[in-house]
Amino acid sequence: MRMAEVQRKLKEGNTEFAATNTDYKSLVSGQHPNVAMVSCSDSRVDLAIVLSARLGEIFQPGRPIGEAMDDTTVAGFEYAVAHLGVESMIIAGHTGCGALTEALKLLKEGASPKEAALFRTIKGLSNNISADYDLETAAWENARKQASELLRRSESVSSAVRHGKAELGVLVYDISTGRISDIELVKP
Ligand SMILES: [Zn+2]
Repeated sequence: MRMAEVQRKLKEGNTEFAATNTDYKSLVSGQHPNVAMVSCSDSRVDLAIVLSARLGEIFQPGRPIGEAMDDTTVAGFEYAVAHLGVESMIIAGHTGCGALTEALKLLKEGASPKEAALFRTIKGLSNNISADYDLETAAWENARKQASELLRRSESVSSAVRHGKAELGVLVYDISTGRISDIELVKP
């Protein structure tokens, strides 16, 4: 879809939102999200929609492919915990992840994407999983590893979790059932 058509669709959707949703008005003075969550870029894994969440409820530090933790994503969690008083952080993996499919391909067949940044990310994801994993096991294990990575990269987040100020968990969203798993808590 080209930009002119995209703009038409975006405007149409936004016009409807601005006319029917009034939540944004009460959020102008500040945000008090319940939870900070990171999930994959995958268009099927839009957490706000999947969780029927309202505007202002979920702080999303990022949606990097494969939930790959980078500095700005970590910064988002630090901000949420230290400045927004968020007490719960979640790394949400998902079944059928294209990035993890590529990471498994790299492990099994040595096949890798040619694009440089994409390759680096897929390579990083491949370090979190084993060649014999199925995609669902890979989703869980990668989410756990990303949670550990968050704790490793951020002293403030890790300290908040150690001192019980905040909790960190992982879950997996099943794109075939539309359901999320229970949350598995991660300890520092
Ligand atoms: Zn994905």
